[in-house]
Amino acid sequence: MSRTRRVLGALLCLLTTALAAGCGKDGSPPVKGPKTDQLPRYRVDTGFRLPDSPTWRTARGRGHLVVGAKEDQPYLGEKDPAGGGYSGFDIEIARMMAASLGFGPGSVRFRTIASANRETALQNGQIDYYVGTYTVNALRKKLVGFAGPYYLAGQGLLVRTDENDIKGPQDLAGRTVCSAAGSTPYQRIAADYPKARLVSYDTYSICVDNLLTYQVDAVTTDDAILLGFAAKAPDEMKVVGKPFSQEPYGIGVPRGDDALRFALDDALAAHERNGDWRRAFKATLGLSGAPVPRPPHIDRYPAN
Ligand code: GLU
Repeated sequence: MSRTRRVLGALLCLLTTALAAGCGKDGSPPVKGPKTDQLPRYRVDTGFRLPDSPTWRTARGRGHLVVGAKEDQPYLGEKDPAGGGYSGFDIEIARMMAASLGFGPGSVRFRTIASANRETALQNGQIDYYVGTYTVNALRKKLVGFAGPYYLAGQGLLVRTDENDIKGPQDLAGRTVCSAAGSTPYQRIAADYPKARLVSYDTYSICVDNLLTYQVDAVTTDDAILLGFAAKAPDEMKVVGKPFSQEPYGIGVPRGDDALRFALDDALAAHERNGDWRRAFKATLGLSGAPVPRPPHIDRYPAN
């Protein structure tokens, strides 16, 4: 098959794939995706009350939670273009948290929020909390609160399989690299590798489209995200080198709602203890080839 046809096929898959269908070599057989019947169910704590949390009280009043997420990150946060349902490891974390806060699966509405808009979405009350490959760092802690972390990723590079010269960030000088606006990987390349030609879009899937059509030479973000894209089109793309940062994923909450933040820390610890976390990982992110890690230490930092 010609390169153009293969690339077009992979592009089509990435653009149109519902998780259930998936795409593989030549458009079939399907690549493994999360199967709804293999996802854990979480016990809904119907008696739960959190009167000290303004976010919880508002959600309770409206009758459902509004959770910010990503919709185009394979195995982490994906929206089915046909049915509109969300799936992935981040989505499972969001559902576990919801169950502990007293909201069943039918009382959680997901809303896609891009990397650059997370802080404003939390500050404006557009969402109650956010679960979407959201790195905890000191700068962001000034704007929002973080429960967790619930996973530790690291920055990596995704290139086409025909690329042999890029093996790490030091090889990016004079090459074009794409990342999402407002993301930590974007900021790290801008600060530490100024000779790279950095371009940004709202999402990593647009970067991947640009990679497949030879508009950029590499895509950079967390290894967990890149492995998912590579797993969906292994003939076209590969993840290279070693992770060159630490990206602990937290659950973003409105700053100052420490009652909610601590409740989510407690919930996370409980779901790690009872095996939900591990089962959820295996049924989602584990399918991209990532081994099941131990969850990172929860950083229950004092109210600030
Ligand atoms: N974890 C990084 C961040 O929070 C990259 C992934 C993303 O943009 O969501 O900026």
